[in-house]
Amino acid sequence: QRLLEIRKQICNPMTMKVTYYKEPVFIHQGHMQWLWDMDGKRYLDLFAGVATVSVGHCNPRVTEAAVKQLEHLWHTTAIYIHPQIQEYAEKLASLLPEPLKVVYLTNSGSEANDLAMLMARVHTGNHDVITLRGSYHGGSPLAIGLTSNAAYKYPVASGFGCHNTMCPDVFRGVWGGNQCRDSPVQTIRECSCSPGHCQANGRYIEQMKEMFATTVPNRIAAFFGEPIQGVGGAVQYPKSFLKDTYKLVREKGGICIADEVQTGFGRTGSHFWGFQAHDVMPDIVTMAKGIGNGFPMGAVVTTEEIAGSFAKGVHFNTFGGNPVACAIGSSVLDTIAEDGLQENCAVVGTYLLTELAKLRDKHEIVGDVRGKGLMIGVEMVTDKVSRVPLPKEAMAEIFEDVKDMGVLIGTGGLYGQTFRIKPPMCITKEDVDFFLAVFDQALQ
Ligand code: PMP
Repeated sequence: QRLLEIRKQICNPMTMKVTYYKEPVFIHQGHMQWLWDMDGKRYLDLFAGVATVSVGHCNPRVTEAAVKQLEHLWHTTAIYIHPQIQEYAEKLASLLPEPLKVVYLTNSGSEANDLAMLMARVHTGNHDVITLRGSYHGGSPLAIGLTSNAAYKYPVASGFGCHNTMCPDVFRGVWGGNQCRDSPVQTIRECSCSPGHCQANGRYIEQMKEMFATTVPNRIAAFFGEPIQGVGGAVQYPKSFLKDTYKLVREKGGICIADEVQTGFGRTGSHFWGFQAHDVMPDIVTMAKGIGNGFPMGAVVTTEEIAGSFAKGVHFNTFGGNPVACAIGSSVLDTIAEDGLQENCAVVGTYLLTELAKLRDKHEIVGDVRGKGLMIGVEMVTDKVSRVPLPKEAMAEIFEDVKDMGVLIGTGGLYGQTFRIKPPMCITKEDVDFFLAVFDQALQ
């Protein structure tokens, strides 16, 4: 009770608003995909601290790397050379395609996106940035301008120079909302795209052109896009959307930024980075969350050209590149590679999507099942025909039931109508079966 009072009055009191839990869950301990509360009840964690615990809670290998580094050197700043930061930056850069090779280490995703926005403005000399409706890019004063979801916006927050453009939502799209032929979930459903989502791509690009003509003529600094929207509810775009957008933004003098905070580090299964599935090459990639398996870390990776422009000023960060963070980050990369976790995301994720699609067919209130790898959204509706978002009270009831039966999931979407499943990348098919039985019962 005392902890609950502190939580409500002293400790980040507004954060409960981002979940449907009636009361906070008292998390006490974690191991891999499992969490235990203070009464010893075990939960299968399918939200991973919001897609953050990539290789499992307290993964023994990563813990060992952290402890070893803690005994050796906790802190020095990046103004000194120390092996962890140099070796980690080199390792991280080697996972990105040319010409992305200059690394800046930060402490969070918001900070990474703030830095990317600053770089874009310095490099282009322009101010305006474009993001997609439904996007989430952070809560710091600059990044909140990029974030489009009204729920996270304070009326006085700086949105100066930030413009949201329509997002080609697979399910709820303005122009054609059906699943498309090129969607990564094609293994689940046949295309029903005529005259739907794929064909609508051109119209989204047209409205973006119109925005350029009317709102941001010739002074665009950057376009920020998540390869699959995270907080927005696993929203996927038609295959050529990002490619066409990048082309348009570059024609107007802007650069293109991929926010890989949720989609990076193999979570989407088919590729290590989400942008790779869209056949595009960003000028800047921002990352956080899974990079440190829950340890506060983030990064910005860019080209030598942009780094050259940025080098005209001075940028300093006390904690970015902390030796412990770098030791952890390095161990996370080794673990993903050696334990085959990207492959596991592809295999277990496809199984989960396939089985969830069966629940969608069984339950009238499951409107859409989508995503890629272990980045999955289940969009809830009052009925399949109207596609009206399921009211929050009903969402909360299902959410609570799932928790009571021992599984933690997340929520998202512009109307809070999407359940999000982003577990540690080490979950198994048996875990999925356990969840499916629980979810089926809760939906019932
Ligand atoms: N970008 C994306 C895509 C995110 O999902 C988030 C966090 N939900 C952020 C940026 C901000 O990251 P952080 O909370 O670490 O500041």
